[in-house]
Amino acid sequence: MKVLFTTSEIAPWVKTGGLGDVAGALPVALRQAGCDVRVLVPRYPALRAAFPDAGHLVHLPWMGGHLPGADLYAAQTPEGVSLLLLDCPMLFERPGNPYLAPEGHDWLDNPLRFGLLSRVAARLASHASPLDWRPDVLHCHDWQTGLAPYYLRFYEHGAAKSVMTIHNLAFQGDFSSDVMGQLALGESDWHMDGVEYYGGMSFLKAGLRHADKLTTVSPSYAREIQTKVEGMGMQGLLQARAPDLVGILNGIDPAAWNPATDVHLAAPYDRDHLADKQLNKQALQREMGLAERSDCPLFGIVSRLTYQKGLDLVAAIGDGLIQLPAQLVVLGSGSHELEAAYRQLAARYPGQVAVTIGFNEGLAHRIEAGADIFLMPSRFEPCGLNQMYSLAYGTLPLVRPTGGLADTVVNYSELALHEGRANGFVCNAANPQSILGTAAWAAGMWYDKPRWQALQRNAMAGDYSWTGPAQRYRDLYESLFSA
Ligand code: ADP
Repeated sequence: MKVLFTTSEIAPWVKTGGLGDVAGALPVALRQAGCDVRVLVPRYPALRAAFPDAGHLVHLPWMGGHLPGADLYAAQTPEGVSLLLLDCPMLFERPGNPYLAPEGHDWLDNPLRFGLLSRVAARLASHASPLDWRPDVLHCHDWQTGLAPYYLRFYEHGAAKSVMTIHNLAFQGDFSSDVMGQLALGESDWHMDGVEYYGGMSFLKAGLRHADKLTTVSPSYAREIQTKVEGMGMQGLLQARAPDLVGILNGIDPAAWNPATDVHLAAPYDRDHLADKQLNKQALQREMGLAERSDCPLFGIVSRLTYQKGLDLVAAIGDGLIQLPAQLVVLGSGSHELEAAYRQLAARYPGQVAVTIGFNEGLAHRIEAGADIFLMPSRFEPCGLNQMYSLAYGTLPLVRPTGGLADTVVNYSELALHEGRANGFVCNAANPQSILGTAAWAAGMWYDKPRWQALQRNAMAGDYSWTGPAQRYRDLYESLFSA
């Protein structure tokens, strides 16, 4: 099974969230499941620097509209995954993250940037590919590659089958119809079964309409996105495509996220050496300038600071949280209001609240290891990786029952504890008082060491690896070729 992955980010080199993690880890697991996977990704500065010896493969001439000519370079990751780096300096050689300029606004030419990525992906998956290697399946991820299954329709015979994965339906790549010409699309593409979406054009809608199979990143989210509440306007289309839509829970990368081998930690530990977790809490308190208290729980947050993640709700109960008593450590960036709210909380409670605004991989690992309780009260959560990192690290997650959080976190009850299932705390309502109530309940439980450690051991015993998910993707690819 030959699979061309196409993605706008790939960990550890270019990552703004879970998509990057998945694009980094799933191809490795798919290789182990017997697939020949190559990953097409723009040659951003970070990838140019990481693979300075990448070899030139081929020049791709102009493909219509304003889509510029480009070049493909080949490189290999340390795990042996082949990368196809799409080189087009005028579109990708920029500071900032893949989507935003350093000042925080979207690059205005994002339609063109990801239109080119989609257009090249379709070409490589067709009989018109300049490469000898032809994929059986083109696997697209999120709106940035949503036009690829549509462009694939331009090749009548000999094109690969396509799979479109939704990592987050909130990001749809909706633009004005003015960009159609730039993308080499015309009148004949401008209809409900093409790329038109509520009077504009939508990359994601095109992919959801035209890919042979659709997946999303948890079974619960696959159901939720077919409803008006969570469907973000796409629910009708997703209901119509329900027979082709499947939820496959993400895994986590065991090479990167294993407390026994994690190079970022002060003291590695596993479920039989939970006492060593305490050393990580002390080290984190020292690193973050918190008082070295062992008489109250430490809550942790690593997240984009956005409405989706429910972190406005936590900011609203900051005082109540500290008075439980508890300490709080926050790593994240996002909305300026939330960044300011957390900075103010840290200023009000020196030694009890520590806030780092920014993106810091090592600190993210140390918070996962050093905190007692991980706060993730998302309003919606397609899959969520941080709660799985928390579970693997014995840092009990406090979540809302939505999407992948509902599929991975089992609320504490005596029965669920003794059945070996309970592994965290679930707050049903998305309001500050309910979250504070659940936090108080969890913080109280922290003092009951035997129960707490039983919960930690349940959490750490879970299988969060990519092995099962990779097999499910492989089965899905194969189903495209069965009668
Ligand atoms: P989402 O993709 O919606 O942002 P996920 O939980 O699926 O949420 O994945 C988030 C990923 O990004 C995790 O690997 C998390 O550790 C990482 N992350 C988020 N914010 C930061 C940050 N400020 N510093 C380091 N890592 C972060």
